[in-house]
Amino acid sequence: MNEIEKKINDLRQLIRYHSDRYYNDDAPEIEDYEYDMMMRKLIKLEEEYPQYDSVDSPTKKVGGKADNSFEEVTHTVRMESLQDAFSREELLEFDKRVTEAVKNRNYVVEPKIDGLSVSLEYRDGVFVRGSTRGDGDVGEDVSGNLRVIHNIPLKLTEPVPYIEVRGEVYMPKKSFERVVDRQLLNGEKPFKNPRNAAAGSLRQKDSAVAASRGLDIFVFNIQQIEGVNLTSHEESLNYIKKLGFHTIPTYKKVGTIGEAIEEIDRIGEERGNLEFDIDGAVIKVDEFSNREILGSTAKYPKWAIAFKYPPEEKQTKLLDIEIAVGRTGVLTPTAILESVHLAGTTVSRATLHNQDFIKDKGIAIGDIITVRKAGDIIPEVLCVNEHNGDGYFVFPDRCPSCNEPVIREEDEAAIRCINPECPAQLLRNLIHFCSRDAMDIEGLGPAIIETFVNNGLIKKTYDIYNLDYDKIAALDGFKETSANNIRKSVEKSKNNDLSKLIFALGIRHIGAKAAKLLSDKFKNIDAIMQAAVDDILQIDGYGLIMAESVVNYFSSDSAVELVNKLKEAGVNVTSTSTVRDDRFAGMTFVLTGTLPTLKRSEASKIIESFAGKTSSSVSKKTTYVLAGEEAGSKLDKANQLGIEIINEEQFLKMTE
Ligand code: NAD
Repeated sequence: MNEIEKKINDLRQLIRYHSDRYYNDDAPEIEDYEYDMMMRKLIKLEEEYPQYDSVDSPTKKVGGKADNSFEEVTHTVRMESLQDAFSREELLEFDKRVTEAVKNRNYVVEPKIDGLSVSLEYRDGVFVRGSTRGDGDVGEDVSGNLRVIHNIPLKLTEPVPYIEVRGEVYMPKKSFERVVDRQLLNGEKPFKNPRNAAAGSLRQKDSAVAASRGLDIFVFNIQQIEGVNLTSHEESLNYIKKLGFHTIPTYKKVGTIGEAIEEIDRIGEERGNLEFDIDGAVIKVDEFSNREILGSTAKYPKWAIAFKYPPEEKQTKLLDIEIAVGRTGVLTPTAILESVHLAGTTVSRATLHNQDFIKDKGIAIGDIITVRKAGDIIPEVLCVNEHNGDGYFVFPDRCPSCNEPVIREEDEAAIRCINPECPAQLLRNLIHFCSRDAMDIEGLGPAIIETFVNNGLIKKTYDIYNLDYDKIAALDGFKETSANNIRKSVEKSKNNDLSKLIFALGIRHIGAKAAKLLSDKFKNIDAIMQAAVDDILQIDGYGLIMAESVVNYFSSDSAVELVNKLKEAGVNVTSTSTVRDDRFAGMTFVLTGTLPTLKRSEASKIIESFAGKTSSSVSKKTTYVLAGEEAGSKLDKANQLGIEIINEEQFLKMTE
């Protein structure tokens, strides 16, 4: 393979990789602009060296493919992509090509919504199916998740025999902020931008989750229609609006490319103020007869072009660096800038990522730096142009919220506060503390905890055990019975096994299983608090990072205070687990049928007391199936998989 061919192949592979992250994982790793520039480079190389052209190239394909978790839908009318332009010259060339092919054409200019494309089908005015674009030919049936989008009508105002429309599902900026806030609170990885958030939400298995995400839609095209004759884009936009669809918010019909460019500039200036993200503006030939003459390539129609606003960069002065601590305890730096006008908005703050970024770029307060904003994403500092400050900015060694020392773990870019009672992290810690696998306090879900925090009923984690139930009963939406139910679950949680409490503390790297191992080994919280790293390392399954994390956690005054207060409140701090020896360690038992003397729950307890596990279904991982009378399908499955079946007598022998 020669050098050019290799270059083309490498580029195709790289583009495929990023396309996969973007379309199929909803988690892009690079900016759209960077991706678009790679694509351009590939198009250019393929034009220059047609001998290496391939039908399989990403330049010939619409990104995305149908996921097998939804039913496939073959589109009768291809859902095409759009050719793109990044400069005025490219728009003029587009106009030249169009004008050479058709006379008397008009253009319609619309904002290009940054969401994901869907098709909606209606029969006799009733919604029958909705699907994603996929690779343009085959998409996914996501009807269930589309039905719950408020602005998608389930019934049209007219019973058109058949109509398929195309629109862009998007997540308004406000919903995006709310969703990301929730994700951070729950310790989940947040969506990168509203487009990915919309795509991820539309692919949810559970429509209730999709419904909670606040998605919306703008419909911008009729793909197919029966029984109605339309001749232009403008006419069809007006018609679909009449049918009850939420159409593209503004469009402008113009006669010349000059006017179209003016409209594109206007949309560009406005985009910072819109309630949704746009990633460009689209120029479309208005008349359907002209569109037919112009036709399409394999990937896009020749009668439309998308102008993408390139990222804007400007120089300004770095006035200050603000350090904030997020709900996960991570310290994040924000640049405070002398205001500049960028991509339609005034920018006075920008992200500086983390300490390593600041060090690598040598950024100090007082420097002249370059700031960049691509589309509507958060502006970022790119580089230093004029270094005026001393050295580079160094993070404080104490948390800006609680003033406790911060830590940085090896191989981690983040510097974080691990104080369990840090006010900035309180809400998130409380939600974790009360969750099912932790203290399992039924009735204390995220929304109620938030209400209690906002009403000053909880200021520290241990306040859960000092709640004022009269005040709760008097809160909006609460009654005496609901307050009493909370009291009951709070009281019940005091008897939990130590392992649940250890997990509830939210010690970094210590999940439910690790918490159980810790509590089984040390039996009470005082012993754990006194344990040294080496003592903890004796536990099979513990590594250095985990052991150090436990010791670090209990070395803070706040952690000691929290444990003392929990003890005072009567929370159990000892292990109730009665592991006799670990002869069943690593084994999984499945119980089936009626045993002659033991109840199933008794048999399970015995298994657990010898460090074994029970499971409800037979799989290759099952060690024994303990079977009694009238054992059913589990026995057949065990036989099929060749798993040893034992009776009660054999089982009891094993426990002697
Ligand atoms: P596109 O998004 O550039 O254009 C086509 C889409 O625009 C259509 O699917 C349509 O649904 C949508 N659209 C929105 N408003 C519209 C309107 N008013 N009229 C007509 N269509 C409208 O093309 P594409 O092939 O879907 O995707 C390419 C985009 O995805 C590029 O912006 C690229 O940067 C991005 N991408 C980014 C990465 C990454 O890693 N960052 C990877 C792959 C793709």
